[in-house]
Amino acid sequence: MQNNPHTTLITTDAPVTANTHGGRAKCLQRLVRLDLPVPRTVALSFDAVHQIAEGEVPNLAAILEQFDPASLLCVRPSSEDPDWGGPGAVLNIGMNDARYVDLSDTMGAEAAAALYLRFVQSYAIHVARLDADVFDDIDMDGSEGLGHSLRAYEDETDEAFPQDRGEQLIGVLRSMARAWDGTSARLLRQAKGAPADAGLGLVIQEMIPGVGQGECGSGVLQLVDSTTGMQQITGRYLSQSQGRDALGEDVAALFLEKDPRGPSLEEVAPKAFAELKEQAALMREKLREEMQVEFVIQNGNVHILDGVRVQRSARAAMRIAVRLAEDGTIPQQEAVMRVDPHALNELLHRQVHPDARRDVLTTAIGASPGASTGKIVFTSAEAQASAARGEACVLVRRETSPEDVRGMHAAVAVLTEKGGMTSHAAVIGRGLGLPCIVGASGIRFQTKKKMLTAPDGRVFKTGDVLTIDGSSGQVLAGQPAMLEAALDDCFQTLMAWADSERDIDIRANADTPADAQTARNFEAQGIGLCRTEHMFFDPGRLIVMREMIFAQTSSGRAAVLERLLPMQREDFVQLFRIMEGKPVCIRLFDPPLHEFLPTTRTGQRELAEALDLPVSDVERRVAAMSEYNPMLGLRGVRLGVTVPEIYDMQARAIFEATLEARQNGAAVVPEVMIPLVSAKREVELVKSRIDTVAAAVASEQGQEFDYRLGVMVETPRACLRAEEIAPQTAFMSFGTNDLTQMTYGLSRDDAGRFMSDYVRQGVFSEDPFHVLDPDGVGELLKLGAERGRSAKPDVTLSVCGEHGGNPESIAICRDLGFDYVSCSPFRVPVARLAAAQLAISSRLGG
Ligand code: PEP
Ligand code: MG
Repeated sequence: MQNNPHTTLITTDAPVTANTHGGRAKCLQRLVRLDLPVPRTVALSFDAVHQIAEGEVPNLAAILEQFDPASLLCVRPSSEDPDWGGPGAVLNIGMNDARYVDLSDTMGAEAAAALYLRFVQSYAIHVARLDADVFDDIDMDGSEGLGHSLRAYEDETDEAFPQDRGEQLIGVLRSMARAWDGTSARLLRQAKGAPADAGLGLVIQEMIPGVGQGECGSGVLQLVDSTTGMQQITGRYLSQSQGRDALGEDVAALFLEKDPRGPSLEEVAPKAFAELKEQAALMREKLREEMQVEFVIQNGNVHILDGVRVQRSARAAMRIAVRLAEDGTIPQQEAVMRVDPHALNELLHRQVHPDARRDVLTTAIGASPGASTGKIVFTSAEAQASAARGEACVLVRRETSPEDVRGMHAAVAVLTEKGGMTSHAAVIGRGLGLPCIVGASGIRFQTKKKMLTAPDGRVFKTGDVLTIDGSSGQVLAGQPAMLEAALDDCFQTLMAWADSERDIDIRANADTPADAQTARNFEAQGIGLCRTEHMFFDPGRLIVMREMIFAQTSSGRAAVLERLLPMQREDFVQLFRIMEGKPVCIRLFDPPLHEFLPTTRTGQRELAEALDLPVSDVERRVAAMSEYNPMLGLRGVRLGVTVPEIYDMQARAIFEATLEARQNGAAVVPEVMIPLVSAKREVELVKSRIDTVAAAVASEQGQEFDYRLGVMVETPRACLRAEEIAPQTAFMSFGTNDLTQMTYGLSRDDAGRFMSDYVRQGVFSEDPFHVLDPDGVGELLKLGAERGRSAKPDVTLSVCGEHGGNPESIAICRDLGFDYVSCSPFRVPVARLAAAQLAISSRLGG
């Protein structure tokens, strides 16, 4: 048999690989090589199993000759990746009437009956394909239960229960092989990432019964906790049991280590427990992984049936990888490679405890990860009032607008009916580290009535408690148990290792001092985008903004802006101080002005009072400023060209803050960024005014300073014309949110409504606002970068759209040789890790 690669006894040198015989077979071979007490096992390859499924009969004699004729057998699946699952194991093959009599003598009638009963029932269900409910009424154990089960089998199949071990084995092998080919099994494993043609191997193992004389039983053991990854012996053991019985819900299983809560294996069988611990430690060291050991104790002796990779939460995965590297079991680089950057996202936020019960109302787009519980509020004012009372609240809006930013600051989570990954709520939510779900159209929003109706008809009103799980996109009723964020030593260690590998810089998008502080905490290398407009929504500034917008003349406007200047200067001083000399890229004002105007009658009346104008005037002006397509209207650099006083004020604030911040702090070289550029002339016009302001500030204060002026490349035209734009600028930062919007002609704010349909039907492989579209938008990035560099080789290139924090998108930027990516502060660690993995795999040639 050794020479037959398809059906082989697992020995130290048998030709077994995970690609041909599956992960379980390969792992068992490793355990055999470690000289662990593994029962004899034969592995069937994917091909062998495939042939069995097609109806071929395997060479039974060759298989059976490997086992003692008196032994029982079990068959377990061995798929290439254990996570892809497979049909359930079948135990006690070989049990028949004669063996039952023999075993009754050696292990007692009850134990023997239990083995036979288990086999009859699983054979009946899995091989003869009888309904499980055939055995529903058989609630007695022992010989009586066995007798009834055998009779039920005969009644249903009109055949006696097969007595021949070979016949039984073939039946089991064939049924498992065919189950793998079934449509539902196929879909299930494909959902877990298995390829359509993934193979199944099978392992046939000699049974160690786990029942009988002396201490007998079965259990599982692992050396770490699956949720936290902390060192802790976990698992269960059940005397007189088989398989994974010890993990059943209503069984009186023992703890493994001594435990105040109840009896333990350590007390019942101290020698076996000590041996097991050693064996588990050896497996960890040699397999270079935390393993769950499946074991049986037979008359006090330990047998290892299997080892599987410990199931783990994201935080456990990180701790396990770091510990393995710290104790020299794996290299640091490998630890960095082992942690999934997407999963890291979870660690940075509180999350719903993996064991908590979830009362899911609906699932929508999880736009900002983490979970928070709070009472529902429907307006920003209510959110602020709630925060003032010290009550956690969830802000529920159809969609958010800049006016809701203060409400979002006050809330612990946000839920919106509309929107997608780059809608306002999503961007701000991520920036604040605030759990956020958008596009929850499964829920009926009646915000005027202050009511939400869940798909199951439950109604939620102001004050009712919801939990927003922005990681999974689930809206939950009530308050499940939570797991706190895990920014511990282990996280810091992994990040430091990642940074030592990385070859692209990571900056953060930060608008406020709090954001900047978060960016520093996550060790961002600077601010890649400060969206200045958010600074004007403070109630004290909003009214001044509105006056400025209503000013009739340029000088009138400049006079009002004078009042905003010191506030804006102070904003920048704070950012510069927090960033301590690291680069800070400030984007000049971007949104359409009318976003700042009041939309309600009350708001318009208040503005009329402040301006000493009739309300009708205000209404008329507001109406006159409305645009059909504001995202394509008077915004970005177009404002800079047509209402230049705003940029003048901002440039002055930036330069004055530069001089102020450097007085007793680090040197600052501010970066000033012009948004929404599409033509060279726009840059020329704005640049000349900004240069003039810089010269004026330098001469007024008698101090020189440097600054860098750059453009945001977020229109397709700016990419195409990069060759003439680049020479005007020190840097070009691709705003991939708008660039995606404009490349697809797809509204950032409305795409959420149909995005899931589009992805489901395969029109888009991913939401392009989430993962950068490599073919279209990526092509524009490539063109823009090449054309920009051809005219100005040292132009700094970066991405500052939301894609900057997405690992797949970072790969594109790195391939294009960008200098940095900039993303929401909370995604900085994800980006640092993803960038490190890209660098490591490209060094390894992968
Ligand atoms: C962008 O468009 O990619 C961008 C970063 O700017 P904003 O999201 O503010 O439009
Ligand atoms: Mg933009």
